[in-house]
Amino acid sequence: MAGRNFLFVPGPTNVPDRVLRAMTVAMEDHRSPIFPELSRACLNGLKPVFKTATASPIIFPSSGTGCWEAALTNCLNPGDKVLASRFGQFSHLWIDMCTRLGFDVEILDTPWGEGAPVERYLASLSADKQHKIKAVLVCQNETATGVTSDVAAIRQAMDSVQHPALLFVDAVSALASIDFRMDEWAVDVCVSGSQKGLMLPAGMGLTCVSQKALAAAKSATSRRCYFDYGDMVTANASGYFPYTPSIPMLYGLRESLAMLAEEGLDNVFHRHSYLAGGVRAAVFDGWRLKLCANAAKWHSDTVSAIMVPEGIQGAEVIARAFKRYNLALGAGLSKVSGKLFRIGHLGDLNELMLLGAIAGAEMAMLDVGVKVEPGSGVAAAQNYWRSHPAERATQSPAAAKAGIAA
Ligand SMILES: *Cc1c(COP(=O)(O)O)cnc(C)c1O
Repeated sequence: MAGRNFLFVPGPTNVPDRVLRAMTVAMEDHRSPIFPELSRACLNGLKPVFKTATASPIIFPSSGTGCWEAALTNCLNPGDKVLASRFGQFSHLWIDMCTRLGFDVEILDTPWGEGAPVERYLASLSADKQHKIKAVLVCQNETATGVTSDVAAIRQAMDSVQHPALLFVDAVSALASIDFRMDEWAVDVCVSGSQKGLMLPAGMGLTCVSQKALAAAKSATSRRCYFDYGDMVTANASGYFPYTPSIPMLYGLRESLAMLAEEGLDNVFHRHSYLAGGVRAAVFDGWRLKLCANAAKWHSDTVSAIMVPEGIQGAEVIARAFKRYNLALGAGLSKVSGKLFRIGHLGDLNELMLLGAIAGAEMAMLDVGVKVEPGSGVAAAQNYWRSHPAERATQSPAAAKAGIAA
């Protein structure tokens, strides 16, 4: 098919040309004396992205799922109790992994379309007087339903009852696109991956581990080997890895970190929220459809899960978009299979790229019988973007000094 494929699944995301070029390298000796320059640039460059000064970023040659497993097997003892909520396919899969690895999960089942139920976390934590719960799991951005949860509120709930459990956060589809704060929220393990906000191919698990979690890992007796934090942190201290790292991925990561630093993380977050606003305008004001996220407080700035009307299969929209318009949309997973399609709006993206996706989704919907007004989604997104600032409001240096908002 002529022209380019429009990749609008919520991961893998578009890899910028700059990153692709940076990855086209000859292989080299990963034990050479100059190799630590590359690994240190990556590991140190990740700290501001996780917003940490004290925790250790760790890179595994895996996908995000490997970092889920690493968090559990490094920090917990066999059979330990963990507290987790389930409101979509990804929060479900992490819970499923806990069960398969033999941990005892207290599951807070929550309607798909809502986020982490802070009050219910609080109730379980305050009832746990003997501190049997060793880890609290939260999925910051549920990619299956387009729902973002309030991680800071979960931390506050833990602190309010002085619960000592570790806090594990899945930020796979949030990191480098929605604000995440390792130190401020006292997160113990942040789990992420390369193929979403970090604009890289899949194949690199990126995680960040607090000093408290590293201390827990020293005595935790769950079996692990390949994903051992201790081996990694020891080798990383001298700029090396315990086994062969993917060298092109490290060059790609260094470049994507440079791009994020050049744009500025706050501008990156603003761009995601601004672009998401246009997609939501297309859904609500243009198409008059609903999102799976059932209240504005849950709206995700990285992925929108759009409910198709009764009698239409989401999969038909997706198949039509792919075959006829060369547009890849995300599918409905598990419980919401067939009920929705997803537009990923994270990573290397601007308004006109998204207008292509909105126009394509609109044509595909019309083709399979969804009664949307032709052009309505595109027009609503255009109106939104034309009437909202693309740039984040910044303070003039003089105003900032005087403490006055611009
Ligand atoms: C993509 C994703 C994962 C899984 O990551 P893989 O890299 O596919 O292993 C986990 N959690 C969330 C929220 C995701 O979006």
